[in-house]
Amino acid sequence: MFLPQEIVRKKRDGGVLSAEEIQFFVRGIPDGSTTEGQIAALAMAVYFNDMTMDERVAFTLAMRDSGLVMEWKSLDLPGPVVDKHSTGGVGDVVSLMLGPMIAACGGFVPMISGRGLGHTGGTLDKFDSIPGYSTVPEPEKFRQVVKDVGVAIIGQTAQLAPADKRFYSIRDTTATVESVAMITGSILSKKLAAGLDALVMDVKVGSGAFMPSYEKSVELAESIVTVGNGAGTRTSAILTGMNESLCHAAGNAVEVRVAIDYLTGKSRPARLHEVTMALCAEMLVISGIAASNEEARAKLQAALDSGEAAERFARMVTALGGPADLMDKPDAHLETAPVIVPVPATQAGFATSVDTRGLGLAVVALGGGRVRPQDTIDFAVGLTNLVELGDKIAVGQPLAMVHARTQQAAEQAVRQVQAAYQIGASMPAAEPMIYKTIRP
Ligand code: URA
Repeated sequence: MFLPQEIVRKKRDGGVLSAEEIQFFVRGIPDGSTTEGQIAALAMAVYFNDMTMDERVAFTLAMRDSGLVMEWKSLDLPGPVVDKHSTGGVGDVVSLMLGPMIAACGGFVPMISGRGLGHTGGTLDKFDSIPGYSTVPEPEKFRQVVKDVGVAIIGQTAQLAPADKRFYSIRDTTATVESVAMITGSILSKKLAAGLDALVMDVKVGSGAFMPSYEKSVELAESIVTVGNGAGTRTSAILTGMNESLCHAAGNAVEVRVAIDYLTGKSRPARLHEVTMALCAEMLVISGIAASNEEARAKLQAALDSGEAAERFARMVTALGGPADLMDKPDAHLETAPVIVPVPATQAGFATSVDTRGLGLAVVALGGGRVRPQDTIDFAVGLTNLVELGDKIAVGQPLAMVHARTQQAAEQAVRQVQAAYQIGASMPAAEPMIYKTIRP
């Protein structure tokens, strides 16, 4: 028999909690038997005294097991169940292409995606901008689409890792989010509840990243790889660049258009392609679909060139209630903003750096993200034609196009984008897109 306050006391004093103590404490989170004060106190104790890797594994598994854990064995799928998760960024549309690309190569991707958080965009919000597409299907429907199409991208349900939902909201209001141990448990509990064989984590680095420094990004990536594998799911991580928007658009419907153009081959922007291929290749290798990175890349390129990946995207969209001709006629279905204006550069030179978080916040201010959790999103708004770091710019040349609901909102976004870009006299050194891959 344990007491929550004794568990808090032990962690407060720098002790190491047993798996049983962690399971007991976490069980009380969703059922309300552990008080908000006790949860906040434990979070603060962990914030200061940390958790060992064994504690993190026990914490992750206990949070995962606080709700429904999906199983796929009974479906006898002819391939591994595999997913990717990203710490979030701006213009990060990777999931929309990656899911169908993996499905086209023989993997099964049950992706539970999230809403935008702070300045970052959310995959769920992007899918919500497709009319008719249901991001909250019945669980049986979700399983069926994963089985038939190989990929289904939906939103989090209340049944998945409910302990994390309460724990996260308490951390959010008690200055205890920034703990690698708790971030690891929070992210992995939700992902592992999807019953994955393998997971690749995309940890962003740079001015639009969730983690504040390169060192912290490495620390999180290493923690997730150790704990994911410790919890029984083959896990690796790639550190990728978020020093500018990953693609030339940021918003919801505008990013869906980027994904469609990528899949159909109309346009494959280089940085977006590099990150998408790196993550996809790692997924194919760690899930055993490909024997090497080279083989994985060849399979992925064939899936794109043959149109199979585009076909999987289209099938997923229709299976979940979206329009059958979305790929052929995106503009007939995706919202367009009434006000579209350029952002004139006020200086000549090279785009040397950009406050990516600032760009994300400009999208939120336009209505493309939420200020409060209950806010609704304006799917049409956002930024397109963003210039890339290293681009040469003349005075008056557009740094981006703003897509807004009103003239007033557009004018504010123009100022925000102008303030976000630094224009300098010399060309900046190119930043890598792939910093590091971490495997068990
Ligand atoms: N995202 C999560 O899901 N959990 C965290 O703790 C931080 C980011």
